[in-house]
Amino acid sequence: MSTRYALREGIIIRRKQLPNGDIVITLISENGKWRAIAKKGKLLGGNLGKLSLFHDVTVQYYRKNDEDLALITQVQLGGALPQLADPAVYPYAHILAELTDKLTVDVHLGENIHSYLASGLRGLAQHSDPEAVALIMSWKLLQQAGLSPRLLRCARCGASETGLMFDIAAGGITCNKCNSGIKLNPKAAAELSAIMHATMHEVLQHPLSERNLHWVLLSRYISFHVTALQSLNNLQRFTLQVI
Ligand SMILES: [Zn+2]
Repeated sequence: MSTRYALREGIIIRRKQLPNGDIVITLISENGKWRAIAKKGKLLGGNLGKLSLFHDVTVQYYRKNDEDLALITQVQLGGALPQLADPAVYPYAHILAELTDKLTVDVHLGENIHSYLASGLRGLAQHSDPEAVALIMSWKLLQQAGLSPRLLRCARCGASETGLMFDIAAGGITCNKCNSGIKLNPKAAAELSAIMHATMHEVLQHPLSERNLHWVLLSRYISFHVTALQSLNNLQRFTLQVI
């Protein structure tokens, strides 16, 4: 049987180096999520550095049989955003990549989630306020996964009059009667609504206030509705003192 090579393109959202030096990567592309392995010393025409987190790559690979991980034989770098390696930006890129990874466990979200991640990473690299980009794009990734918070009606009883309490478990704002959750202020509530309904570019026209509150809300929402993210735990700047 002859070896059949194939090509695959995508953004590297996870990278794990094994004790023997081999590297397992997870790519997200328009066609979904995909894992492959690069064997140390066996990568032709490329080096393992090209297989870095957040790189947009095209890999050539083959698979001996269906059960094996695809084996990468060549890597071509389609695009790298060197700014993402900046220690002031990297933690935010890690959040978007890890969130994308967790949102696509056993679910095919494909094209949209890939393009939102790509524009989020570009935004992080280019914008002077990467923290705001990370907050906005994390919510937009959740939205693409069908996990938008409910903001227009009470998340618990459906009443159309809503207050300022955000109930994480119920998945959104509650009314003054149900009145459960984390207390937002009018500005933070308006910003959350803008994040869900306007473009990233539009939201970035005004600096986001209450960063701490935004991080608390986002991290608790993700922990409850998706899973706890290592990257959010690493972002130690939020101290949860508002709750
Ligand atoms: Zn209610």
